[in-house]
Amino acid sequence: MRRNRRVKIVATLGPASSSPEMVEKLVHAGVDVFRVNMSHTTHEAAKAYVDTIRTVADRCRHAVGVLCDLQGPKFRLGEFHGGRVFVNDGAEFVFDSDKTPGTAERVYLPHPQIFEAVAPGHILLIDDGKIRMRVKGAKKDRIAAEVVTGGALASRKGISLPDTLLPVSALTEKDHADLDCALAIGADWIALSFVQRHEDVLEAKRIIGDRAAIIVKIEKPSAIDDLDAIVAAGDGFMVARGDLGVEMPVERVPGLQKQITRKAREAGKPVVVATQMLESMISSPMPTRAEVSDVAAAVFDGADAVMLSAESAVGQYPIEAIQMMDRVAYEVESDPSYDAFVHATEFSKRPTGADAIAAAAYAIAGTVKVAAILCYTATGSTALRVARERPGLPVIGLTPIESTARRLALVWGVQTVLTADPEDLAHMVRKASQIAFEEGFVKAGEGLVITAGVPLGSPGATNMIRLAFIDEHGLPDGHTPDEFPTGGKRRTPAVTKIPT
Ligand code: PGA
Ligand code: MN
Repeated sequence: MRRNRRVKIVATLGPASSSPEMVEKLVHAGVDVFRVNMSHTTHEAAKAYVDTIRTVADRCRHAVGVLCDLQGPKFRLGEFHGGRVFVNDGAEFVFDSDKTPGTAERVYLPHPQIFEAVAPGHILLIDDGKIRMRVKGAKKDRIAAEVVTGGALASRKGISLPDTLLPVSALTEKDHADLDCALAIGADWIALSFVQRHEDVLEAKRIIGDRAAIIVKIEKPSAIDDLDAIVAAGDGFMVARGDLGVEMPVERVPGLQKQITRKAREAGKPVVVATQMLESMISSPMPTRAEVSDVAAAVFDGADAVMLSAESAVGQYPIEAIQMMDRVAYEVESDPSYDAFVHATEFSKRPTGADAIAAAAYAIAGTVKVAAILCYTATGSTALRVARERPGLPVIGLTPIESTARRLALVWGVQTVLTADPEDLAHMVRKASQIAFEEGFVKAGEGLVITAGVPLGSPGATNMIRLAFIDEHGLPDGHTPDEFPTGGKRRTPAVTKIPT
């Protein structure tokens, strides 16, 4: 199955979208990666979701990725008498280690680490920031705070501490169990929530190894402070605008989205823009104009993927939401101004073979009219480096490794075909040409750029590039013509074959 769009679509699975029929419809509508939210999914359900996705992907002959999103250290209040209380602006409120049900004056806070880490002046946000308090004093088992913005406090509501660096790792006990499950069922990407520092990423990487790639969700002010090291440590990133907009002033989110997107693109690692992209489509078949503009802005910025959360997990219009994203992305990518926007920032190259080859592929594609760039890739890194150039034509990853194909499902512009390593150089060119021809990426008379590593099949050694010209049987010429035809008709180039 080929797509006419470069940006990828991630959709969260949930009750509204998890039946096999629905998953198949969603793939046809445009989903490239499914997100399984481990905060709301049992291990049995997660396994059933992944089995369904794999069956559907095989049937559609499409590389579909699975992203398991771990809950991370999310802190919650204890219980209140009667379930909820009201606190007024200016009142004093106490968090303590007394398990008895809370009142309008105090509540149990079941997280001893918070008592150790807060300091006077720090802000406490409850229920997605609806209630705001400021710490007046903190002791080992008691935090006294002043209510800045009052309202209803209910049992088990979330509490965030934007100013406090908490002495907790990004993986809780629940996360360790969920991670075991995610790896056992074969997740391609693992998302880490509430990462505070790059050490959190390294810790997860030590456990996960190369069994899955890691998405770091950027949703904490401390992660913004450590962004460069986090971008160096992670495999991919999510602009998690929901919690980011709780922990930081919402008006800072658009600027941070641009900053995170730019840094991830510079590193050549995929970045997903997430949360409330088509929020009104949870209950309406049409989005607002502002939501359409929001999706379009992420596409113009060259983000790798845009994501749906509640829209596809519990909403009334999951298919319509995906179709809407697909249409917006297609339209933006066809817009005459798109190319200038997506290439507005020039990123420097690393002095590596892969970057030299990626830059050369991009330059060739900008010089003669070719239909696609094909990359033989074992780890996916060549396809990533080529995609980093954001070339204006399809990038096709050819790989014998299924997990590579599925990870690349998240990456801008990359479509993958599973295929065994070629036997020799001639086979390498022939095989790539035929795949491109059969999959409809190239027509007779058009050209292809093919990258590979010699010796063939050795990972991390991309060192050659070939320009091939395709005949009516999908076979490459033994040579490349002096000049590419401008029209549909193929000219026979005046080249004399040198006898061998
Ligand atoms: P969540 O992450 O949906 O798991 O909270 C995304 C976000 O915070 O935006
Ligand atoms: Mn979040």
